[in-house]
Amino acid sequence: MNSEKIKAIKELLLKKVEKLQNKSDILKDVEYKSLFDELKTIPNDQKASFGKELNLLKNELKDIISKESYQKSGNSKPLDVSAPFDENQNSGSIKLLDQRLGSIHPASTEIKIITDIFSSMGFKVIESLEIDDDFHMFESLNFPEGHPARDDFDTFITVQKDKTNKPYVAPAHTSTMQTRVLSENKDELIKNNQDIAYVIPGRVFRNEDIDARHEHTFYQVEGIYVSQNVTVANLLSVLKDFMSSYFNKEIKIKTQPVYFPFTEPSFEFAVSCIYCNQDGCPICSYTGWIEMLGCGMIHPNVLKIAGIDPSKYNGFAFGLGVLRFVMIKYGIEDIRHFHSAKLEFLRQFK
Ligand SMILES: [Zn+2]
Repeated sequence: MNSEKIKAIKELLLKKVEKLQNKSDILKDVEYKSLFDELKTIPNDQKASFGKELNLLKNELKDIISKESYQKSGNSKPLDVSAPFDENQNSGSIKLLDQRLGSIHPASTEIKIITDIFSSMGFKVIESLEIDDDFHMFESLNFPEGHPARDDFDTFITVQKDKTNKPYVAPAHTSTMQTRVLSENKDELIKNNQDIAYVIPGRVFRNEDIDARHEHTFYQVEGIYVSQNVTVANLLSVLKDFMSSYFNKEIKIKTQPVYFPFTEPSFEFAVSCIYCNQDGCPICSYTGWIEMLGCGMIHPNVLKIAGIDPSKYNGFAFGLGVLRFVMIKYGIEDIRHFHSAKLEFLRQFK
């Protein structure tokens, strides 16, 4: 059989299929089937080109059949998966698919807002590390080996060991950066009397039982200030100014003592409820106060480890949980929304 003959049969079959009510009947056509029988008998040197022609015909007929079944299913056109609108609906109108661009995650937006406020007060900004060593996570912050307070900062560790044969850690707080910042800036402090003022945003990790208030991964902004004759009043006034600016509201503040190994004295810092003006509401658990962060005067041992003489210099530090701030600012009830990848949640922050 030559290619002329195939072409003739092909034309014949295409005319036949046009008239068929059920297009797939063409596959049962005697002449179509005979072509496959013919393939078995033709000389080997012609098999390749004959087979190719036959394949083209087969595909052409299959296309016709699939178009028919698509139309029967109620659609007027074949599916175009690259179309930027939904072609598959039968209403006749074309509905544009959602082409909105992505948005910046609320944690990133708020970190920018928070660090901008501190920048305007003269603080410099650096980011914390997401893997650190035992020295920066614990020892440099006055948690010696075996210290019970290590348990409060239970986090994840790596199998790989550092040069002191201790595992690396996923930092449980951004305070891991304190000793670095202090040692790197101590010369400027001592020689040129240049205050050390830094805020350090970063992602931190805890081995937590997850619920509406607790996540294994969250964000902190650490603040450090070291100079001479720094007082608790300086600490409280910086935080009060920051909070008023962040919530865009005049607030009252309250502290109560707490224990952290790396600050002495240490405080829990609360603000007057931004929702109810202290009348009592569910956000403040009807107390009129909302706990915002932990803070305190940097422990002399932490200054010593960084090479700063605590008899001449002192300072304060604080660590705020970014997601807690965002939750309070927007009245978000569950911390798990942030990493849920739920678009309906994230799109509210555009
Ligand atoms: Zn309230």
